[in-house]
Amino acid sequence: MSPPTLRVEGLTKRYRENVAVDQLSVDIKEGEFKSLLGPSGCGKTTTLRCIAGIEKADAGRMYINDELVSAPDDGVHVKPENRDIGMVFQSYAIWPHMTVKENVRFPLKVRGIGSKEDREERVVEMLKMVGLERYKDAMATDLSGGQQQRVAISRALVIEPEILLFDEPLSNLDAKLRREMREEIKRLSEELDITTLYVTHSQDEAMFLSDTIALMNEGKIVEENDPESLHTNPDSLFAMDFMGHTNTFQGHVTEADESGFVIETPIGDFTIDESQIHLEMTEGSDIILSFRPKFCDYRTPDRTRNDRDYAASLEGVLEQKAATRDFTEYLIAIEGNQITFRSLEPLDHDVGDNIQIRVPQEHVRVFEDQSRFKAAKRQDA
Ligand code: ADP
Ligand code: MG
Repeated sequence: MSPPTLRVEGLTKRYRENVAVDQLSVDIKEGEFKSLLGPSGCGKTTTLRCIAGIEKADAGRMYINDELVSAPDDGVHVKPENRDIGMVFQSYAIWPHMTVKENVRFPLKVRGIGSKEDREERVVEMLKMVGLERYKDAMATDLSGGQQQRVAISRALVIEPEILLFDEPLSNLDAKLRREMREEIKRLSEELDITTLYVTHSQDEAMFLSDTIALMNEGKIVEENDPESLHTNPDSLFAMDFMGHTNTFQGHVTEADESGFVIETPIGDFTIDESQIHLEMTEGSDIILSFRPKFCDYRTPDRTRNDRDYAASLEGVLEQKAATRDFTEYLIAIEGNQITFRSLEPLDHDVGDNIQIRVPQEHVRVFEDQSRFKAAKRQDA
């Protein structure tokens, strides 16, 4: 098997006492599109800047195609311009005093790539690819935000880098343009099959674009998987929470045998098959239970399922309903708590009505109760 195009091992970067990136390890395979997804301040940009070489790492090792490019312990730090990496930033960072063509040509000139004619040809080819050929002689700053970001993308691609890095490239664009540009990026990445690391805090963007998502928090990668699995079957409560809206409750295991578990929660009992649980738990365990609003079924059970296929049947009072573009969302009060339920089809129910929903076995996720775990640790300290 060929080595990964990028290998990051134990990358650490500190700013004084603040550990921005904490022993982070990640691989990107040839042709893979991977997103680094996480909340603001979790260390995404710092990771990207260390990979590009703009920032010097404090520890760890990085390889591009098996070539060592960073190893502070051994005094290795390959300069950014020698790393064969293209980068697209949030702010377009195009050069205002240059035309579109000059912007895209610049990296070739700096690196002394190709003859004058070669350069001209490559620049025009790049601009064609992003649909900007007819603007080649315009001043870069006369273009719209979306067009400027296209210039930035062509400028990153023109050197034919081994790896393309994006840092929240769509954040400065309005919603409509953001959708258009993410389709454009997907098309380009499929056409060129270029190895890509894409930084974003948007779960939607990461899911839409990626082969793999590496979910990041507090300088570390929490969990890594394909978008669908990370959304539907996350291993961590952090991923469950970050990858979309979810209903989360404390649970207490009141029965445990070979067939499964009964878990008491503030909204009622859940009966869960043994096969659905990937956690060490026994009678008396305290856990966290979570299920997504869109994976619940409404009242009449699916005919192809029997009761055993549902972990819980929940009854409450409809408190609020709100329509969105894609679904209707219902807020249901159950014994002083609230759950959210989403349905593609609007339901024939008004605020104040009783309503019953069911939660399928396979969509209940059970996690270790880390709040208690943390509280216990804090007491120790
Ligand atoms: P993200 O891109 O995920 O929002 P960053 O990588 O920008 O996160 O920041 C990670 C942490 O490092 C934050 O706590 C931030 O304040 C800190 N940080 C980033 N850059 C610097 C810097 N140049 N000097 C000091 N602290 C920084
Ligand atoms: Mg950032």
